[in-house]
Amino acid sequence: MGVSGVTLRLDGARWREHLQTVSRATPGLVPVVKGNGYGYGLARLAQESADFGADTIAVGTASEVDAVREIFAGDIVVMSPWRPDNGLAVTLAADPRVISTVSRLADVAAIADLAVEGRRPRVLVEVLTSMRRHGIPAPDLDQVTSLLPQVDFVGWSIHLPILAEGRYPEAERLSRAARNTAPGTLWLSHLPADEGSALARQLGGANADPAPIRLRVGTRLWLGDESTRRTTATVLDVHRVNRGERAGYRQRVVPADGWIVVISGGTSHGIGLEAPTPAVSMRQRVISVATGSLEAAGLALSPYTIGSKKRWFLEPPHMQSSLIFLPRKQAPPAVGDEVPVELRLTTASVDRIVTD
Ligand SMILES: *Cc1c(COP(=O)(O)O)cnc(C)c1O
Repeated sequence: MGVSGVTLRLDGARWREHLQTVSRATPGLVPVVKGNGYGYGLARLAQESADFGADTIAVGTASEVDAVREIFAGDIVVMSPWRPDNGLAVTLAADPRVISTVSRLADVAAIADLAVEGRRPRVLVEVLTSMRRHGIPAPDLDQVTSLLPQVDFVGWSIHLPILAEGRYPEAERLSRAARNTAPGTLWLSHLPADEGSALARQLGGANADPAPIRLRVGTRLWLGDESTRRTTATVLDVHRVNRGERAGYRQRVVPADGWIVVISGGTSHGIGLEAPTPAVSMRQRVISVATGSLEAAGLALSPYTIGSKKRWFLEPPHMQSSLIFLPRKQAPPAVGDEVPVELRLTTASVDRIVTD
């Protein structure tokens, strides 16, 4: 048996092909490199971004800049709003490679105050969308005009909801409001590439060049092609059990004759009680209740697949391993086998990444 744990196996060539495809198809792509690095880590995504030729990446918070700045030599947008009481954000505003996102009128004034002779902070001004997360409401944008000359104005930030309905009209309305306030590049999130191109042409007008746009993309770029990766976990132990015996921290009654399979992966890997995607149809659920099966016995579906089916947790996952129940008729895996585990990579933390 090799090293055990939860492994992300990446088909490197295929993944990079996907990154290239998205990059070519997306006008002004700005890769989003934040959080757990979409399962891959910030450093790796920063390196990949450099490799496929991105000139700018976007991190989530000021504290993430450090993890990417030595690896990625281009510009770095900080997407969470710049605030004057965030010392690190204030320091970064003086960095010529960092672009701060400013979401309140008072903060535009405050960051403008940091300007020193010959160097003004680079700033995206965020417009409030129907997300209602951060941003200056469109009707108030005219109040920004007088402040813009005091900063190095890079453009407008517009973060749209993921829902498709009403997305394009909202993008268009807010983009027009912003560009009527001051011309500038539009930095949009959650607008598909084709809608981004259409918007740029529409805003540019009939006989003019398309308006400059940048599209920030995370999930669709890094995780968009599922065939580029597999996640697996190691079988650590297998025990034969009979119906009515007890097992686990909670000493649950085993619901039928079968096997307890101990597999690596638990709460510390981001493994929860339910598989990320429901693997059982309504019909299967009805059958399982009708036959007095495991779900009816109060078990929860796990993200582990054995014998081409998602299997049931005997009890909630432990910190680094999980107890899975298998009915007797299913041949159990061998200790050391790798079994597929479905992970939501934006919340998962794997033990290792293996690139083929
Ligand atoms: C996280 C984030 C993104 C990227 O979102 P994905 O759904 O992963 O593409 C884009 N814009 C902003 C402002 C974000 O916070």
